[in-house]
Amino acid sequence: MVEQLQQRGITDTRVLTAMQKLPRQWFCPDTLLDTLLYDIDCAIQIDCSQTISKPYTVAWQSQLLGLKPLMTVLEVGTGSGYQTAVLCEMGARVFTVERQSVLFRKTRVLLSSLGYHARCFLGDCFNGLPEMRGFQYDRILVTCGAGELPLGLMQMLKTNGIMVIPIGPEGGQKMHRITKLGDTPSQWHDELLGDAYFVPMLEGKNFR
Ligand code: SAH
Repeated sequence: MVEQLQQRGITDTRVLTAMQKLPRQWFCPDTLLDTLLYDIDCAIQIDCSQTISKPYTVAWQSQLLGLKPLMTVLEVGTGSGYQTAVLCEMGARVFTVERQSVLFRKTRVLLSSLGYHARCFLGDCFNGLPEMRGFQYDRILVTCGAGELPLGLMQMLKTNGIMVIPIGPEGGQKMHRITKLGDTPSQWHDELLGDAYFVPMLEGKNFR
């Protein structure tokens, strides 16, 4: 898997080392017939009709964050926990939010049984969670596709922080990397980095 990622332009050695170390299979349902299939660059269905992202997408988003050890990262969309574990392996202090209670409960147990100390939260994180109010993160990684830039999440990013987020309608999402140079939107440096394919980020829907 790692060789394929390198061929496709992933150069961050901490991303490659983390992904080499972590079997993706640990985070997938036990349904594929051959263990090699877990390394193929495909999204795989997990519980609640959600998906674990393709390995390339996980590597690409992780690289775009430009992470340094001990940085705080807010991940929106815990899902299987694979991306969460990659960020932990890269030395980040990870806070992760999931709106589906089945996934939240299952993945929280899995991550802690594997020794990852990510803080897991249940809720709709379109605008952050009430219990996170007042806290700001070095990096925010959104692993579901937002219809528009969530302004509440931008407030939770530190100055000089980076948010990596797919934005756009289903079928037309683009990956954005937004660097927050100041509090006003004119100080947000927005880079458009290519097509993205994510399950939708849901807002204000019943989730329990
Ligand atoms: N990072 C995950 C990707 C899971 S798919 C992985 O590696 O497996 C995206 C996840 O985002 C889904 O589990 C979905 O339930 C969750 N999600 C969608 N909208 C959300 C919201 N508003 N708040 C929190 N999680 C959300």
